[in-house]
Amino acid sequence: MKWDEFGAWGARVSEWAQAYHQTVGDRPVRARTRPGEVLNALPVAPPETPESLEEVFADFERVVMPGITHWQHPRFFAYFASNAAPASVLAEFLAMALAPQCMLWQTSPAATEMETRMMDWLRRALGLPEPFQGVIQDSASSATLAAVLTMRERALNWTGNSEGLAGNDRVRIYSTAEVHTSIDRAIWISGIGIANLVRISTRGAGRGMDPEALEAAILADREAGMLPAGVILCVGGTSTGASDPIAACLEVAERHGLYSHVDAAWAGSAMICPEFRHLWEGVERADSIVFNPHKWLGVQFDCSAHFLKNPDSLVKTLAISPEFLKTHGADGIINYSEWSVPLGRRFRALKIWFVLRAYGLEGLRARLRNHVAWARQLHDRLAAEPDFEIVTQQMWSLFTFRYAPEGVADLDALNLRLVNAINDDGRIYLTQTRVDGAMAIRFQAGQFETTEADVMMVHDVVTEIARGLT
Ligand SMILES: *Cc1c(COP(=O)(O)O)cnc(C)c1O
Repeated sequence: MKWDEFGAWGARVSEWAQAYHQTVGDRPVRARTRPGEVLNALPVAPPETPESLEEVFADFERVVMPGITHWQHPRFFAYFASNAAPASVLAEFLAMALAPQCMLWQTSPAATEMETRMMDWLRRALGLPEPFQGVIQDSASSATLAAVLTMRERALNWTGNSEGLAGNDRVRIYSTAEVHTSIDRAIWISGIGIANLVRISTRGAGRGMDPEALEAAILADREAGMLPAGVILCVGGTSTGASDPIAACLEVAERHGLYSHVDAAWAGSAMICPEFRHLWEGVERADSIVFNPHKWLGVQFDCSAHFLKNPDSLVKTLAISPEFLKTHGADGIINYSEWSVPLGRRFRALKIWFVLRAYGLEGLRARLRNHVAWARQLHDRLAAEPDFEIVTQQMWSLFTFRYAPEGVADLDALNLRLVNAINDDGRIYLTQTRVDGAMAIRFQAGQFETTEADVMMVHDVVTEIARGLT
């Protein structure tokens, strides 16, 4: 294929994408593919000679499309949303056409300076105070890994990278058991070891970390000759939206000189609305905060906003050329690859710029407020059904519920059957989770094109299918 065919193909793909998005609601949300079906439809060996794009495109429709789960479907209520607003898709198209590597300022000054400005726009949008600066990471998992490495190096007086961990005091990190699995993996990869991720007990219905238990654990570890290094807190956990009491836990972390990281991957987007910020009150005391515009804000994957109160510790941990530190911030040049684990970086700031300008903060706030209000209506309607119960309270646009008709002994099996039947039906897509060991069905609203009618359909589909189960 040559560039002189690109314009026509670009136009055709754009038309296709527009039609897809305008009719995606007619498709079953979850793919109905059986394991191996797509694999077997693909030739075993690569082609030796060129094929026409016409053939490739026809196979895309034939082979790929039936195997796609439609994350941009307005009735996608599973996991968390992974939005790709049209303005974001256009920005990605441009970024892909340029395909710059954005590791150093000089490898694309526009990308670096756009990233600085966009992270500051997001800082203002979330109501975070001035000292915070930001970097765009590829995922929340990467941001958390960078934060954990920083905790380790800071506690080891910057000797971990050079000497390794053997012979050093045991580095200890604190979190509850409710945090995302990306925290476990960051602990593995950092060499700290999962035995040194201390699970602090929770208290209350909110399942948040008990700050007194945190303090006791830090003191006990110090007493035992270990090295308390950092605290990882969560705002809006993946399973039920559980959040730690941020102000109280950060006060303990600060008093004991621990580095703190707040994982608000999903719920961080909600903080563009001042009325949702009380659930992370005190967050300005954190050293590091991550949230994913690629979940609820309309900016497509991958785009993780990582804020740092002072990037020096992170840069000292990850910069590969130590002399860089001497000019850091002084001459206005930032090399963002020194702020992250991967060297190569895509031009991710462009899609934030397009989305914030195309929708405005007011447009984005209106969407999020609708999602929360519609989730509340659905919550109230299900709560009013005699054979349904709410399992965990609504957190932003997320709550869990279960079907609990009288006289059924095995509610777990019944609810698992229900989720499977709902997803086979195809009109909506929900996922399940476990709460205190028992099965619950999870609902979250967050897709960019979702309407009130889409959310209300969940009530009808769920009650209809549940009562039809025999
Ligand atoms: C989605 C999510 C993550 C992981 O995000 P990635 O960007 O996919 O790494 C981490 N923590 C929480 C709370 C999440 O919801």
